[in-house]
Parts: sequence; structure tokens; C-alpha cells
Amino acid sequence: MSSNPFFASPPGEPRHPLPPPANRRDIILDSPSHPSSPATVAIASISDQDWYISRTHGVYHIPACAKGEPYALLLLSARPDALDLGDNRRFPFVISAREIADDLLQDLHDHGIFVCAGPRPTKEELASAAAGRDAFYVRLISEADVMWARGHSYREISDLHRRAAIFLGMEREWAYVPLRMVDCPACGEKVKPGVAVCKHCHAILDAPKAAQHGLGAAGTPSVAGPTAPAQPEPPARAPESAPK
Ligand SMILES: [Zn+2]
Repeated sequence: MSSNPFFASPPGEPRHPLPPPANRRDIILDSPSHPSSPATVAIASISDQDWYISRTHGVYHIPACAKGEPYALLLLSARPDALDLGDNRRFPFVISAREIADDLLQDLHDHGIFVCAGPRPTKEELASAAAGRDAFYVRLISEADVMWARGHSYREISDLHRRAAIFLGMEREWAYVPLRMVDCPACGEKVKPGVAVCKHCHAILDAPKAAQHGLGAAGTPSVAGPTAPAQPEPPARAPESAPK
């Protein structure tokens, strides 16, 4: 009996296509000649992190947006894949670039990574991505505030929370990153990196910086100043045999 609407087609009319297998409904079976699917899709990122995503059809690297650049770009094209049907039978198909992009970016939109409508991101797309990322970071910060209030436990705060606070310049006790102290070359005590004067022995560690702040001996001759008259070298002793 052919009461199934997918198989019952009036004579002379093309049959309806079979529905895709239920367990693969997340993947569009596409062919390169598919007219509505562009061959290449551009992913733009304003995240300062590199992202690597592994799939059966490849490992994808979404590059970090370099400092001073408006965005980083990854171009995706369609990739072949195959369903294993068992008995050495495989069903090859092509995953469209758009389908790959949507799959890769599921969790990354919050970080300012998105699929461009065109070959390059527009100003509006970039602004919207930045607004979305900032809103995400604000949510993370208030989440961490709540966790911190409960027990002041650094272990509950993730790197993502700290990154959000540092990125938005929000000072938080839980986001405090201890400075790596350096040794004062004069006295050996620990000092903050980049300070002009050692707080322990008061040695000038950065003379121009110290002078800027009115510290140190600016104007007075420095140690490397005028050289003292050269001392006459002691007369070279003629090699002689040591007295016995
Ligand atoms: Zn010192």
C-alpha cells in the first residue's frame, strides 16, 4: 500500500525527495552545484584568542584578531564527508561552507566570532559583535561577583571570568593577577617590574624615569661621567726564571 505521502506521487509528476535520515538532520546534504549555497563563507573574529575546532571533516583554526586590527578572517569552503553505512558502503556527500560555519560557531558567538553576510564583515556586523561580546563579559563579571560574595574562593572563578574583567578594565578582587616581581640588581630584594627606584635600597633602576619624577641625581655627573686620568700601567716584568 502506498499511503505514505512521500512515495505516493501522481503520475507524470516528480517524486518528492526522501527526507534526510533523522539522526543526521543537523547536516544538509548538499552538492557543490547547489545554487543557494555560496561556495565560500567568511568567518570574522574580534576575539583576541586563537580557536581550534576539530571535526570529522577537518581541524579548523579561527585566528585571533591581532592588536590594532579590526578583525581576523577565516574563509571556509565546502568539504566532502561520508556516512558509514556499514558493509563497506559509504554515502559520500558535501557539507556546505555555511553549514560548517554554523556548526563551528555554536559557542563562539559570545566571543565576537560570526559568519559574515558578505565576503568581508561590515562595520555594523563588527559593532554588533563587539556589543554582544561586551554584554557577555558583563554577564560573566556579575556571575563571578555572586560566586565571590558567597565564599571568596579563587577556585570558583574561571580564566574566562578574569579575562572578562581585565578586558573591560573592571577592577575586581577576584580578578587580581599578582605581578611577577623582579630582583633589584643592587640589593637583591624583590621589586615590581619597571619601577624607577628600589624601595629597599633606593638604587636608581631606571634613570630617565627617576629623573621624570624628580628622583635620583639628575644633573650631577653620573658614574659613567668624565673618566679619571688613566693610571700608568705597571711596567711589564720581563719573564725571568723564578729564584730557587
Ligand atoms: Zn635594592
